[in-house]
Amino acid sequence: MFQHLQQYAGDPIFGLNDAFHRNTHPQKINLTIGLYYDENGRIPVLPSVAAVQKELADDPSPRVYLPMEGLASYRSAVQRVVFGADSRVVAEGKVATIQTLGGTGALKVGADLLHDAYPLAGVWISDPAWDNHHAIFGGAGITTHSYPYYDPDTKGLAFDAMMNCLNELPARSIVLLHPCCHNPTGVDPTPEQWQQIIAVMLERGLIPFLDLAYQGMGEGMEEDAYAVRAMADAGLSFLVANSFSKNLSVYGERCGGLSVVCASADEAELVLGQLKAVVRRIYSSAPWHGGHVVAGVLNDPQRHAQWLTEVEAMRRRMAQVRKAVHEMLAAKLPGYDADYFLQQKGMFTYSGLSREQLVALRERHGVYIIDSGRIAVPGLNNANLEHFTDALVDVLE
Ligand code: PLP
Repeated sequence: MFQHLQQYAGDPIFGLNDAFHRNTHPQKINLTIGLYYDENGRIPVLPSVAAVQKELADDPSPRVYLPMEGLASYRSAVQRVVFGADSRVVAEGKVATIQTLGGTGALKVGADLLHDAYPLAGVWISDPAWDNHHAIFGGAGITTHSYPYYDPDTKGLAFDAMMNCLNELPARSIVLLHPCCHNPTGVDPTPEQWQQIIAVMLERGLIPFLDLAYQGMGEGMEEDAYAVRAMADAGLSFLVANSFSKNLSVYGERCGGLSVVCASADEAELVLGQLKAVVRRIYSSAPWHGGHVVAGVLNDPQRHAQWLTEVEAMRRRMAQVRKAVHEMLAAKLPGYDADYFLQQKGMFTYSGLSREQLVALRERHGVYIIDSGRIAVPGLNNANLEHFTDALVDVLE
């Protein structure tokens, strides 16, 4: 019955990860996967999260279904973290927020909502992209296109080319943007560039869809939400998919949120109803346990403050690693311009290494980086930096 189906190629990142585990190099380093590892190479359980998990383990109350829109205390916490505690659009009731199955679930629900509301609208996605963006929107029946984003010559933003493309889009086109820590490049617009992007969105009647998967990992929790808040201040209607997978280190709990900023509180009510309808027809309701874990951390002032310190420690560690790589490369290979390690932000750095160099890194040094040259920064730590930079120098010379 299913013989005609195509073989699923699998995710190339997971394939490379398997190859890493088979490799016997004594100093091998895994820089493939988008997970945060601490200085000891472990995925952390944040103490703020562990405390709430313990309370929940001792709580005998039944694990009932949550409402379609999710836990109320979770939804209000999403709004405070993403839009800011003093957000005007939130106070005015213009934001419809639901709890979702991670950031991926938020993107899927948002894509289905947009396809229902604007069946002919296409979506424009950065080039290069997080591959799943094309898959999620394509899977929702939306035609996907690309806009220029990364300039390989400067290892920075191709801002003029990006703006030229956005300036040509038909009204009601969807534009997928990363407010911070762009995956895969680590290249983000400056606040001034965001203002220009916002002006085009308003002028051309475009629908911004912000994918906020790394809040707190770039410049800081508030700074990383700059684009969200600037769009709200500009009076735009837009969507934000946020994920707590990385900044609470709760990947498998599937914790995210989808917020739709509307022109009025009445419209937000209407949208909330449609979001519930979408959730009902695809998975009915979000996870009870993950919802309570996140709400338990974010709604308790002391734990919330503790969590902010924990995220800041992760952010600082990555920034420190970037600085250390930059310094080591400057000493070991003075002619090589490694400034991109400092300029790009968050979990990823786009190295521009060639296919041959990447294969040599794997085969000669056990250093695993995916084929696009995207380096997952948290895989680096003080114990492996020397080997990593020696390996880079070997393939770059
Ligand atoms: N968006 C981007 C750009 C991501 O990199 C990721 C995760 O890697 C997600 C969304 C999805 O996050 P989640 O794991 O919460 O579904």
